[in-house]
Amino acid sequence: MDIKTLIREIPDFPKPGILFKDITTLLRDADGLRYTIDLLAEKCADLSPDFILGMESRGFIFGAPLAYKLGAGFIPVRKPGKLPAAVHAIDYQLEYGMDRLEVHQDALHPPHSKILIVDDLIATGGTAGATAKLVEKSGCHLVGFAFVIELKDLGGRQHLPKVPIVTLAEY
Ligand code: AMP
Repeated sequence: MDIKTLIREIPDFPKPGILFKDITTLLRDADGLRYTIDLLAEKCADLSPDFILGMESRGFIFGAPLAYKLGAGFIPVRKPGKLPAAVHAIDYQLEYGMDRLEVHQDALHPPHSKILIVDDLIATGGTAGATAKLVEKSGCHLVGFAFVIELKDLGGRQHLPKVPIVTLAEY
């Protein structure tokens, strides 16, 4: 199966000049969704993570079923103000302005927990790089990253720590 055929491209969303990769067409396809999760699981199995860290909100969609398949726990990384208990936070640069991600402090158990970071897409690598810093801050062991889509020309992987990076559809 070629999952690229199930990913829809929407020009000029959310702003002019961005070619948005719409994964809702992949998600609504039963065979495509199962294939995507199974392939992610197959490619990530050797990393043997204890926990999947998924970023709000599309990282949740792929991260939770992947955690289930791998027999790992799932930990949400959220936008500010959403998590109820004490958090580790990281501020990071967007194209215009700053953003912040948070994770529960007691969700990460250093130093032995092995963490795999999962999101739908890597573009500049800002989001995944910031999440990796949260893992570093906690003292846990980052074993890799997994993305359904990689936008290669943006060079995002150069901004990530040197651990394995799994991707399924490259553009
Ligand atoms: P970045 O931090 O630049 O790597 O951007 C990654 C985040 O932004 C991911 O959570 C994506 O869901 C979203 N994103 C960035 N560019 C696109 C795009 N062209 N199409 C869809 N989502 C995107």
